[in-house]
Amino acid sequence: MQDKSKLIRRHETVHSSESLPIFRNISKVSRADRERLNNNKAFTIWLTGLSASGKSTIANEIEYWIFGKGIRAYVLDGDNTRSGINKDLSFSDADRTENIRRIAEISKLFNDAGIIVISALISPFAKDRLMARNIIGVDDFIEIFIDCSLTECINRDPKGLYKLALEGKINDFTGVDSLYEPPESPDLHLQTDNNSIDDCVRLAKDYLIAKMTLAKIFN
Ligand code: ADP
Repeated sequence: MQDKSKLIRRHETVHSSESLPIFRNISKVSRADRERLNNNKAFTIWLTGLSASGKSTIANEIEYWIFGKGIRAYVLDGDNTRSGINKDLSFSDADRTENIRRIAEISKLFNDAGIIVISALISPFAKDRLMARNIIGVDDFIEIFIDCSLTECINRDPKGLYKLALEGKINDFTGVDSLYEPPESPDLHLQTDNNSIDDCVRLAKDYLIAKMTLAKIFN
């Protein structure tokens, strides 16, 4: 006869909604197992800054560099996620919070799968970045402030969005008619208006090498 206990999956109750209790499935494969298979620890690098400050540019370079070392890494870019999983969200304050919450939850899932995440989102509000840090876990969250003056971002305007915002053709645009709260103590502060892309990427790599060596990723 079959042992019944083997037929019952392990689970824990984590949340009761109004009508249904939610049971969290406990996988037989742990995050540590996945990290061992991938041969690296997983964490999230969170890039915050104004539109056109250089988040995507620097995120792509970091991803390319980590991936080139044979380590799984993936960029969650605000523009991409807003045209997919978050396409139902506006740029109201409440929807910006929901945007961050979802990407933080996705980052956490990727980390649980043993993958390093580079999230590149404006993430303008300090309270939302704190929420992301808490969802992902303080030890797995590296905040990089991609700092660029509004004047320089307007000069760059690679997508023509500042022009539209300044002409009043789009609303709730960060830096124009929506607030950006700079991080007070980011793990790394990169000033992209007076440093080249190469210099910023090098500073990011130097910082991450120190971190990742500590986490024994580059052994
Ligand atoms: P964001 O993702 O923050 O909206 P992007 O990376 O899409 O910004 O665009 C930033 C623009 O600024 C790019 O055209 C990039 O070439 C330019 N740029 C100039 N200097 C830098 C720098 N030091 N770091 C990053 N981007 C820079």
